[in-house]
Amino acid sequence: MKKDLSLYIHIPFCVHKCKYCDFLSFDNESYGTMLRYVDSVCQEIKLYTPVADKYIVRTIYIGGGTPSILDETLITNILAFIRKTFEVDRFVEITIEANPGTVKYHKLLAYRSIGINRLSIGLQTADDELLKKLGRIHNFDQFVAGYNSARRAGFKNINVDIMSGLPGQDVHSYVDTLTRVMEFEPEHISAYSLTVEEGTPLAEDTALLNMIPNEDTDRQMYALTKKVLAAHDYVRYEFSNYAKDGYECRHNKVYWTGGEYIGFGIGASSFFKGQRFTNIRDINEYITLMEETAEQFVKRQDKLKLYDEVTERMRTDVVTMYIDRRMEEYMFLGLRMTKGVSRKEFERIFNKDIYDVYGEVINKYVDEGFMISDGDSVRLNDRGIDVSNIILSDFLLD
Ligand code: SF4
Repeated sequence: MKKDLSLYIHIPFCVHKCKYCDFLSFDNESYGTMLRYVDSVCQEIKLYTPVADKYIVRTIYIGGGTPSILDETLITNILAFIRKTFEVDRFVEITIEANPGTVKYHKLLAYRSIGINRLSIGLQTADDELLKKLGRIHNFDQFVAGYNSARRAGFKNINVDIMSGLPGQDVHSYVDTLTRVMEFEPEHISAYSLTVEEGTPLAEDTALLNMIPNEDTDRQMYALTKKVLAAHDYVRYEFSNYAKDGYECRHNKVYWTGGEYIGFGIGASSFFKGQRFTNIRDINEYITLMEETAEQFVKRQDKLKLYDEVTERMRTDVVTMYIDRRMEEYMFLGLRMTKGVSRKEFERIFNKDIYDVYGEVINKYVDEGFMISDGDSVRLNDRGIDVSNIILSDFLLD
C-alpha cells in the first residue's frame, strides 16, 4: 500500500520585504531569476522520480515568500511536475498563499482550474496605517477585493492570517480586525502574535519597538481571539489556528502529527524516510545545482544514484529521527493541537503505551490542573496552553 505524503513548495520572492519578516524571501528579484528558480523547483521534484512510486500525495502547500507574485503559468508548471512525478490523491488539499497586493481575479481563476482548492490570504491587520508601518504592500480594501475575487473564482476554503502584538496596536484595534475579518466568514483564521526577529528592520527600529504592546496586552489579545472567534463558530484546533467545522488545514496537521513531507525549493524543510533535513538556502547555489542535475537527468540511466548524489549535496542539518527524538517531537507538536495526542495513535506509531514513556509527566500536569487525560486523549487545557513552553520542555527524554 502506498504511504501518505505531503509536499511543500517554497517560493522565496516578495514585492517588498515587510519590516518584521525573517522568512527566506527576496524582494526585487528579476523575472529571469524567478523563471530559473521555478525551473529548478520542477527539476528538484523530478529528481524524486525513482522514489516517488511508494507514495500518494494527500496535501500540497505552496508558500513563501509570496507565491501569488508569480505568473500563474509558473504555478501550473510546478503542479504539472508534481502530478507527473507523484500519484496525487483525487481529494488532495492544495493551498496557495496570496498577498492581497498581488492577488488578481485571472490568477485566482487559473489556480482553481489547476486544482488549487485552498487559499491563504495574508492580511495581518485591517488597520491601513499599521499595514504601512509594517511595510506591507496592501491596504484593507485590497484585501476585500482579493477576498471577493477569490469567492467569485470559486474558492470555498479560505484562510486569513492576522497578527496581534503589532506596534501601536491596542486591544480595540485588534478586535476591530477580528470583527471585520469575520464579516467575510472565511473558513479558517490563523492568528499569530508578532515576534521580533534579530536582523529584521523592525529589530533596529527603536520607534516601532517602543510601540509594541506589553505582554499583558498581548495576552489579552490572545485570550480575546478565542472568545470572539468561538462566538462565531470557529473552533481553536491548534494554539494559533481556528476553523469552521470540517475546515482544519490538513497540510499543517501533517506537520503536527509526525507525517512525512518533502519541502522543495531553498530552505525548505522535510521529514522523509526517517530523516529531518533542510535544503540549502543560497538561491544561486540551488539554481546551479538543479541546472547541472537537469543535464545529468537526461544523460544518466541510474536515476536512483543521481537522486542520492544530488540530495546529499542539497540537504543540510540532516537529523536521523531515532525513536526517542520522534516521540519527543510527536508530543511537542501533537500537544499544540487542542484535541491533543491520541493514546491509540501513539501506540500504533511507536509500539509503546504513552503512559509507559510519559506517565509521570502527564500525571504531574494533570494533577496540577494544566493537562487533561480522558478516554483516548492527552491534551493541554487553556491554563496549560498559557505555559506550554515550560510544560513541553518536560517531554524531552534523557
Ligand atoms: S509578504 Fe510575507 S514573506 Fe514576504 S516579506 Fe512580507 S512577511 Fe515576509
